Amino acid sequence: MSTLAIKNLHASVDGAEILRGIDLEINSGEVHALMGPNGSGKSTLSHVLMGRSDYEVTQGSVTLDGVELLGLPTWRRAELGLFLVMQYPVEVPGVTVGDLVTAALKVRGVATNGVGDLVAAEAGRLGVRDEFLRRGVNNEFSGGEKKRVETLQLAALAPRFAVLDEIDSGLDVDALRDVARRVEEMTSESDLGVLAITHYDRLLGELHPDWVHILLNGHIVRTGGPELAQELERTGYEGINDSPK
Ligand code: ADP
Ligand code: MG
Repeated sequence: MSTLAIKNLHASVDGAEILRGIDLEINSGEVHALMGPNGSGKSTLSHVLMGRSDYEVTQGSVTLDGVELLGLPTWRRAELGLFLVMQYPVEVPGVTVGDLVTAALKVRGVATNGVGDLVAAEAGRLGVRDEFLRRGVNNEFSGGEKKRVETLQLAALAPRFAVLDEIDSGLDVDALRDVARRVEEMTSESDLGVLAITHYDRLLGELHPDWVHILLNGHIVRTGGPELAQELERTGYEGINDSPK
């Protein structure tokens, strides 16, 4: 079993402190949902975990099985088993999803001769049409196609932990179901640990969280089970106190 441990994490952007002491531990096979209003710091946390350079970590640690990730370049974090599905995936014209998966496996020293079959099999499971395997990644893809193809990469690479930043945004119900179901399957097939950032309880109908955390003003102010997401759906964030628990 693997553990991704975030301890007292503080981070700033442009000199403003956005994350103000995050503590969160995720084990293999677990799904943790992170919810919170716009601007609470959810995407900031995902970028800090992956090591984007415009976010400055001022305190704390992030370890994967005891290995400190802070200070490591993004590619090294990916190699150690972390994968981020971005809220706004970037376009890579001229590079197909097969090329991306091949490159990522090569970095990990994994044989790449079966990549074509692997990508085709995952495309079938995720409802990705052939056309999208031939085009540059995210080049003129709809929101749903982008997230299906991002999930395809996730499934093909089978990392230890995945951070999904609003994988449900811009998805119709069919795409949402396919993507969430595939991620849920990975939690048992390959023991994937998941941090799923979302606004909506509907994602969590397919991707069943073990824990739900609420982020407000850079603090996790509440942690509970799936019932917390349902409560939020009814009450919104207004009733939630923003002092850390
Ligand atoms: P969420 O994902 O919860 O909606 P974000 O983490 O995107 O919130 O943003 C949290 C705060 O940090 C916001 O006030 C936002 O304006 C600010 N912020 C995030 N990223 C940047 C950035 N790259 N440059 C400047 N400000 C940023
Ligand atoms: Mg965000």
